[in-house]
Amino acid sequence: MTDFLKEMRDKITEMLPKDIEITNVDIEGPEVVIYTKNIGRFLNDENLIKGLASHLKKRFVIRPDSSILMDPEQALVKINEIIPPEAGVERINFDVNFNEVVIEAKKLGLVIGHGGETLKRISMETGWLPRLLRTPTSNSEMMRGIRDTLIKESKDTKTLLKKVGKRIYRDQVKPTEWIRITALGGCREVGRSCLLIETPESKVMLDCGLNVASTENSFPYFNSIDFSLDQLDAVIISHCHMDHCGFLPYLFQYGFDGPVYCTTPTRDLMALLQVDYLDVLAKSAKTPPYSEKNIKDVVKHCITREYGEVTDITPDIRLTLHNAGHILGSALVHLHIGEGAHNLVYTGDMKFGYTELFEPAETRFPRLETMLIESTYGGQGDIQAPRYIGEKKLIDTILETTAKNGIVLIPTFAVGRAQEVSLIIENYARQRGWDIPVYLDGKAKEASAIHTAYPEYLKKNLQRRVLHNDSPFDANIFQMVDRTKRKEIIDQGRCVILAPAGMMNGGPVIEYFKNICEDPKNTIIFVGYQAEGALGRKIQRGVKEIALEDNGKTRGYNINMRVETVEGFSGHADINQLLGYFKKLSPRPERVLTMHGEEKKCMNLARTLSYKFRVEASAPRNLDSIRLK
Ligand code: ZN
Ligand code: ZN
Repeated sequence: MTDFLKEMRDKITEMLPKDIEITNVDIEGPEVVIYTKNIGRFLNDENLIKGLASHLKKRFVIRPDSSILMDPEQALVKINEIIPPEAGVERINFDVNFNEVVIEAKKLGLVIGHGGETLKRISMETGWLPRLLRTPTSNSEMMRGIRDTLIKESKDTKTLLKKVGKRIYRDQVKPTEWIRITALGGCREVGRSCLLIETPESKVMLDCGLNVASTENSFPYFNSIDFSLDQLDAVIISHCHMDHCGFLPYLFQYGFDGPVYCTTPTRDLMALLQVDYLDVLAKSAKTPPYSEKNIKDVVKHCITREYGEVTDITPDIRLTLHNAGHILGSALVHLHIGEGAHNLVYTGDMKFGYTELFEPAETRFPRLETMLIESTYGGQGDIQAPRYIGEKKLIDTILETTAKNGIVLIPTFAVGRAQEVSLIIENYARQRGWDIPVYLDGKAKEASAIHTAYPEYLKKNLQRRVLHNDSPFDANIFQMVDRTKRKEIIDQGRCVILAPAGMMNGGPVIEYFKNICEDPKNTIIFVGYQAEGALGRKIQRGVKEIALEDNGKTRGYNINMRVETVEGFSGHADINQLLGYFKKLSPRPERVLTMHGEEKKCMNLARTLSYKFRVEASAPRNLDSIRLK
């Protein structure tokens, strides 16, 4: 390790102009940090860093040497003079562990300034390096909490990053003679997605989910792992849904202390959903598999990456995340293993079609030999109705039900369909007028707020609206509610309620459902995937009677309400989109493994892909190990 740093320092000194004074070279996780007294030289010439990065194939961060930092109190005054008041600065914190000034503002564009001028001035005049955070357009306690924790505990973060960096840049002892992938969950099923990628040198986990819809087989097969968790190099999380990250805090309970790679929105949203999951368990008096402290551990261990950033995560594995089009921050995971020995893409959940929120999934990769692809709608007849038909049916059903003073209940995940449905309603309301109250219960509203803090992940026109104070999520037709208002809303009737959980395995949706399901003038609309065994699936299939717990007793409910399923705005690609995606893929992989779907869907997708595209395709089962090289 010291050799690595010494070597880096020598190379850097050799490459940079002689008058630039380098005071230290260090590592922070995957990044090499250069401390300098001449920060201005780097700010005025971007090519200095670009040159280093392209020659040395590392990511570099420039930090000011502590000796040039202005006293924080003085610096604060200076920064407030430099940033125009219209920027809406919310907070300024000085992070002495990273020599950064963390500026949180509503209008980051004004903090950055034309061509980055304002940022440059802050750095030149105070010595501190600015780190920017965007304030969401409405409050999110979770995001506030995460941001505060990260600043308060930045010393721990620094120690952790150093430890992680040492591991990443250890000397590779064993050559990459083989590459193996083991399915720990999520194969021929939806829920508990979890894969293990191993080489003789490295061990990396892809997703760590749990199946919230089931009480049996809800956790990945951790008992089949034959090494202790501290030997795991890293975990990569594709997106925040519980079937991909719900079991992650458990790893920290049992000895994992390494990095979690994901996008920044995924970090924030997964904490929101994991905390919510513990709440749901607590309410039903079930024993949680981990604690809130473990969720905090996850947050502190996240190393966030943007789409397209190439990152060394072990001596022989390099990671790049790409847009998956599924939900905010969702990523396709590209791994480059063993200096070109093998390249794989794991899609996590993906969408390759129109949505209000995101661009379709990325199709181009520098190299690709193996693809692990989701199969939620991989069955032969899994063709989603065209979008406009789905939108029309949704709006018509709402209008018909509310015309009779009925209530429309839409079970949604807090993240994903809740926002998509909100946008469809907002769109209609803006064009045609609307006087029906739309209530968002549970974490959906907060999740929407988090969307507004990361507009760069949204589709261009939506991004523009958020940046110009016209966020559709803040439209006044939407009202946030909590448990205290539920009765009032139900009594008053004539409204739309979006409430989690999306598959009705708990959460506020159950409270509403129990109170309105027996009245035929009400409607329940399913807009998202319902897993086998989930309550939502049973209702969707038309059961007429259901037993549910009410005040500690089990009670029978007659389902007299109208039950509808609206398709067309799923966050998953349907079979046609999956095939269309594969056709567009460049390069096309040699081998495909299908997963994240019921057995027959995974098998059908594998069969169809191998027939249509002549690739080697199969649907592995949980616990299968497949040698890729
Ligand atoms: Zn998902
Ligand atoms: Zn999923």
